[in-house]
Amino acid sequence: MSISLKVRACIERSSWIRKMFEEGAQLRAIHGDENVFDFTLGNPSVEPPEALRLELARLAASPLPGMHRYMNNAGYEETRAAIAAVVSEKSPQPLGSQHVIMTCGAGGALNVALKTVLNPGEEVIILTPYFVEYKFYVDNHGGVTREVWTDPETFQLDIPAIENAITPNTRALLINSPNNPTGVVYSAASLKALGEMLARKEKELERTIFVISDEPYARLSYDVEVPGIFRYVRNAVIATSHSKDLALPGERIGYLAVNPGMDDVNLFLEGAIFCNRVLGFVNAPALMQRLVAGLQRLSVDVEEYRAKCDLLYDNLTAMGFSMVKPQGGFYLFPKSPLADDLAFVRLAQKHNILLVPGTGFGAPGFFRIAYCIDAAIIHRSLPAWEKVAKEAGL
Ligand code: PLP
Repeated sequence: MSISLKVRACIERSSWIRKMFEEGAQLRAIHGDENVFDFTLGNPSVEPPEALRLELARLAASPLPGMHRYMNNAGYEETRAAIAAVVSEKSPQPLGSQHVIMTCGAGGALNVALKTVLNPGEEVIILTPYFVEYKFYVDNHGGVTREVWTDPETFQLDIPAIENAITPNTRALLINSPNNPTGVVYSAASLKALGEMLARKEKELERTIFVISDEPYARLSYDVEVPGIFRYVRNAVIATSHSKDLALPGERIGYLAVNPGMDDVNLFLEGAIFCNRVLGFVNAPALMQRLVAGLQRLSVDVEEYRAKCDLLYDNLTAMGFSMVKPQGGFYLFPKSPLADDLAFVRLAQKHNILLVPGTGFGAPGFFRIAYCIDAAIIHRSLPAWEKVAKEAGL
């Protein structure tokens, strides 16, 4: 066998995702694109803001000397300063450009942060339901994941459960708000309680426990403001990107922002810049860094996502499905009407509705709907949802 046993096992464990993708392609070939309702992928359905196209045209029309060359591994000063100014608005201590490191998306930022802090065998707490890639990312850097459930009714933080999971070997906690897959935004009160609990545990265990706050949906929130993590947690870093808020996932542009009040902040920054380099990212894409520098206060039209969310939430709850109403992002995470979420996903598939089972997020008994698709497709899917609801006994 030519490839690593570990990678082979990973591929096999996540093969149902690939299977679903392949089966979706088969369904499309049989029924036509317009008759398959694919709610599986978190790919933005909206286009980037017009200002981005204009800025791209401007950059192309008046190229800067050396604009495609290597740069400092942390990124362009101008971009980092623009981001620092925006993040400072939700931070007790202002960030300087030195507190921002440009990365290849949020995925790159998470890997850089994890590599920077983990010693082999150290534990990272992840919160169930969790983003599928977290376990792989932690494993990339020799860490061990410990899964802790959020409150299964509200999906808010269960702070006593997190506290119980902390051991003398815990190095980090990964949180994600607005959340994929639940759509939940963690409240300021719960983040405050989290920060207080962590400060107490850090003192007791005499070690730093980092909070890595994965925030690619932070500018896609409905009615609530996503609380700034630096206000509540000292040893916190934000890992984020413009994949969702500027609809640029294919461009791989994101950043790490570090709380200036963190323990040994300069050492962390030095370590993270080194890791950005040796993970082979070297630096985030140059053109994209230039592009987003002037677009920090822009985002795609959140109202489009909210309208899709409301459309599905209102219709599905009327059919008898039960779910937490999202406060941001572009996912719904209803309870599966069948105890076996895989069986439910199969049932939906018979009606050309493609979903991801909660099992994939560590949460059997639920399923995920990614509603970042055309509103017309959502409308067309409703009769099929009715049939699924009936067959599932709702
Ligand atoms: N974190 C979460 C919760 C996500 O949903 C995603 C992408 O879907 C990522 C991280 C990775 O984002 P990026 O494409 O910026 O690497």
